[in-house]
This record gives sequence, C-alpha cells and structure tokens, in this order.
Amino acid sequence: MSVSEKENVVAQESQHYMPVFRRQPLVIGHGRGAILTDTEGNDYIDCVAGIAVNSIGHCHPRLVSAIKAQAEKLIHTSNLYYTELQARLAERMAKLTGMERLYLTNSGAESNEAAMKLVRKVTGKKGFVSTKNAFHGRTMGALSVTWKEAIRKPFEPLVDGVTFVDYGDVSAIARAVTADTAAVIVEPIQGEGGVIVPPEEYLAGVRELCTERGILMIADEVQTGFGRTGKWFACEHAGVVPDVMTLAKGMGGGFPVGATMSREPYKFDQGDHGGTQSGNPLACAAALATIDVIESESLVEQSRYNGELLKKLLGELESTYTVDIRGKGLMVAYESSLPVPPIVDYARANGVLLNNTSENVLRFVPPLVITKEQITTAIAVVERAINVYPR
Ligand SMILES: *Cc1c(COP(=O)(O)O)cnc(C)c1O
Repeated sequence: MSVSEKENVVAQESQHYMPVFRRQPLVIGHGRGAILTDTEGNDYIDCVAGIAVNSIGHCHPRLVSAIKAQAEKLIHTSNLYYTELQARLAERMAKLTGMERLYLTNSGAESNEAAMKLVRKVTGKKGFVSTKNAFHGRTMGALSVTWKEAIRKPFEPLVDGVTFVDYGDVSAIARAVTADTAAVIVEPIQGEGGVIVPPEEYLAGVRELCTERGILMIADEVQTGFGRTGKWFACEHAGVVPDVMTLAKGMGGGFPVGATMSREPYKFDQGDHGGTQSGNPLACAAALATIDVIESESLVEQSRYNGELLKKLLGELESTYTVDIRGKGLMVAYESSLPVPPIVDYARANGVLLNNTSENVLRFVPPLVITKEQITTAIAVVERAINVYPR
C-alpha cells in the first residue's frame, strides 16, 4: 500500500467512523507470532498484543485452522440449541478455573455486566464496592464500577450503590461494606490503571473479608487471565478462588469471546440472562484452540520467565527518571517521571509497538509467544528512545 493509499484509509475512516479512538498513525496489514507488518511492509515487534488479547501471537496456525474448519461447518445457531463445542468449552473452563459454572460472552464488559447481574440475583442485595483506578469496561453496568471520572461522569446516572475505595487496602473495603453490599469487584492486578500490583496479602484478605461478611468476591481477570501474569489466572498467585471470575481479552487469542465463571451455588436460572450470539460455535472453537496452544506450548511458564527477563532488562535501563518497574509475567509497567509518549513514537519509528496507560506509564503486554530475542531487541530500542529523547 502506498503512502497515499494509507492516507485514504485514514481519511475514509475519519469521515465515517465515530472518532472515539486515538489511533497511532499506522495501518496494520498482517501479523505472525509477535511480529506485525504494516501495509507499507515495515515489521514491528508487538509489545501490545492488541491490548493483552493476542495471547498466542498473531494468526497462530492452530488457531487459524480451528477457525477455518469450524467456519466451514457451523458459525452460529443461537442459544436455542445445544452445540458440542459449547459443552466442551464449559467443561474445559471449569477444569482450568476450578469454578463450576460458566456463561459465555463476547467481551470483557459483557462478562462484568453478567457478573453484576448475577451477584445481585443470588444475594438479593444491590451495592458494589469497587476500587480507585479500576477499569471494568464501558457499558453502563461495567462503567458504574469503573473509576475514571472522565469516562464515567458524562453518562450518569449509572448503576446505583457503588463505593470506590483505595486499591490494595482490605480495611478500606471493610469500612465500605454495608448491609446492602452484594459484591466486591476487583482486578488481581489493575491493568488500565497502570499495572498496579497490590500488596502480597491483598487478594487473600479480600477473599477472607468477603467470606466473613457474607458478600461475594468478583475477580475481574479480563486482562490478567489466560497466562498473562505467569499463572493461568492471577488469583492463583494468592491461592484464592473468587465467587465470580470474569474473563475475555486473551481467551480467544483475538477472536471476541469472554466468560463469566461462578462457583456453586451461584448461578443464573433459566431466563435470568442471555445473549443471542454469545458462545457461538466459532467463538468456542477459537477459545478451545487458544487454550490448547497455551497448554501445549507451555505459554503460562514462558510468560513467567520471559516476564522476569523483561523486568530485568528494564531494570538495567534504570535512569534518574525511572520511577518504578512492576508487574507479573508478561504484564509489566515501566513508570518514568518524564512523559513516555515520545518513547512510544520513537519505538514505533524503529520497529517496536508500545502502549502507554498514562503520560508516565509504559505497559508491556506482548503476545505470550514473544521470544527472548524479540524482548531483548525491543528493550534495546526502548533504551535508545530513552537516550535520544531530549531531557
Ligand atoms: C479490557 C478490560 C475490560 C473490558 O473488556 P472489553 O472487552 O474491552 O469490554 C474489563 N476489565 C478489565 C480488567 C479489562 O482490562
């Protein structure tokens, strides 16, 4: 694609697509593994993975063939009928999470919507305790438990009865719980908030508090799930099983699919909830193939040790401007006292895609298949960016 064709894509889109996204000036053509190629033929090491979505890399051959084969057989039936793949995925997910019940969705926000309805139904209570800096999605319910005022305020009134407390502080939750609290909703590591890792004992403390006070614990693992943090699910780092777990992002390796898991006896009954396209055979095939690849290629373990390498290399770049390096597995943040967007721009111009969650925080969430060599090359570019850019 020539430069003018690229300009056409941008012009065409900006004329008709609602301008909600702030996009980087890049038209992506294709991808393989942890490499993306733009329409001008330039390669990039992808340290973003479609925001922690392309867990098994771009166009993994086993995911592609599973989707192809299923597309030729059956794409959608609605939930009026049974399909074999939905049953298989339900069983597989129960085994993976240790939670008995599953409801399939098409996105993270939808998984949280289902979770919020579920906890209200099974407790008969209305309130939620959420955390400052939390991100749970953009739909009305999920947005109600999302912290950032700029994206929440313009759409009020939202779901009633939400209290936000400091992340990482169990006693703050204890103080916020009332007789009408249905659930606490919490990310095991805050993602959009800037990869905030809570104190070691936090999740176990939340679990204990919820049990003691008879309220439910919703773990939003939409970003942290499926090996991202070096465990299948980040709650495992704390040895915690929540009452409800929400999933999406990495689950379909890029195919939109999510899940709301719960442990017995918490579940919807017939007619309580639904979705016409949710859990369609194509989505189930993609999720099953993604899980197979994560398992057979030991990507959870790879996420753990390559995450350590990533943090070590970032640590070696430590300059007077480095504020913090944190994260688990391949979910890592580099925080600087200087603005990081120039680093993102420099890296893109030099073949590395990065993402920043704020002016000062770079977030690394590459495909779990990224190699040591690719990590090393990417961080060398970040190092040059840090040195080049004026300070
Ligand atoms: C991305 C994200 C969501 C929302 O997922 P969508 O698929 O964008 O709706 C919810 N919770 C967390 C923790 C996320 O990172």
